[in-house]
Amino acid sequence: MRPRELASGLSLFPARTPTLLPATHTNSYALGGREVVLVEPATPYDDELRAWIEWARSLEGIGRTPVALFATHYHPDHVGGVDVIARELGLPLWTHEETAKRIGPEKVARRLVDGDEIRLDGPALQTWRVLETPGHAWGHLCLWEPLQRTLIAGDMVASEGTIVIIPGDGDMTVYLAQLQRLRALDAALALPAHGDPIDDPNALFDRYIAHRLAREGRVLAAVEAAGALGANDVDLVPIAYADTSPTAWPFALFSLQAHLAKLVAEGRVLSEEGKFRKRARRQSL
Ligand SMILES: [Zn+2]
Repeated sequence: MRPRELASGLSLFPARTPTLLPATHTNSYALGGREVVLVEPATPYDDELRAWIEWARSLEGIGRTPVALFATHYHPDHVGGVDVIARELGLPLWTHEETAKRIGPEKVARRLVDGDEIRLDGPALQTWRVLETPGHAWGHLCLWEPLQRTLIAGDMVASEGTIVIIPGDGDMTVYLAQLQRLRALDAALALPAHGDPIDDPNALFDRYIAHRLAREGRVLAAVEAAGALGANDVDLVPIAYADTSPTAWPFALFSLQAHLAKLVAEGRVLSEEGKFRKRARRQSL
C-alpha cells in the first residue's frame, strides 16, 4: 500500500520506474512535519506521475507543505519525473552540481554540497545533513538526520537488486570509501531508493563491503590465472563471476571493469593494450 508512514514526518511512496531488475520501483520519501522535502522525483510514467502528484498534494491536507524536491543523483530512475513534477507542483529542485550538469543546470534551484543542512520546520524541527557520497554516481548525495539516526541512502545500498558501479560514472575505490563512511555513522534506519527500509544498516554495510572485497579477490585470482599473457575484461568475467548466472554477466562486466580500475590504480594489476595481468612481486635484493 502507498503511501507508507514510517514515522511522524517521514513517509514513503514507491513508484514504478525503468530501473534495474529485480527492482521495479524507486522510493520517494516525504521528509518533514510541516515543511516537507520530497526525495526522488523519479517516475517518468504517466499513471505513476499522476499518483505521485496526487500523493504530494494530499500532504497539504494534513498540514505538511512541500517546499522542494530533492534528487540523490542523475540516473534516469531517480530524476525521470522531475520536469512534470516541478511544473505541476511549482517546486524547486535541490541537488548536487554534478546532477545539475547532467540534467540541465536551469532545472536546479539550489546546489547542495557536503555539510549543508536542510532544516524543516514542524511540530518537531528536522535537520538533515547533506553527505556527498560519490562512487555509484558523481555528486551522489545522502541525507542524514542525527537525532533519529536516519539515513536517506539513495543508491549507495539497496534492499532489493544490486548496486552497479559503472566505470566513468562510478568508481569502486571511492564507492568503498564512502560505504565505510556511511557505516561509521552507526545509523538506526537506512532508507534506500530501491526496496524496503533497512533496520540494521551496519550489517548491510558490512555485507556490501565484504562482498565487494571478496569479488575483488576473485577478480585478482582470475587475472593471476591468465598468467603472463594476461586476459581481456570480457574473458575474465566467466572466471571471476563463475558463481553467478550468465544472465548477470553483461552487468557483471561493468563491476569487473570497476574492480580492475581499482586494482590497476593500486598497482596490483597491469593493463596493456586491453589485457590485464598480475603485477609481478618486486624482487628483493
Ligand atoms: Zn543510480
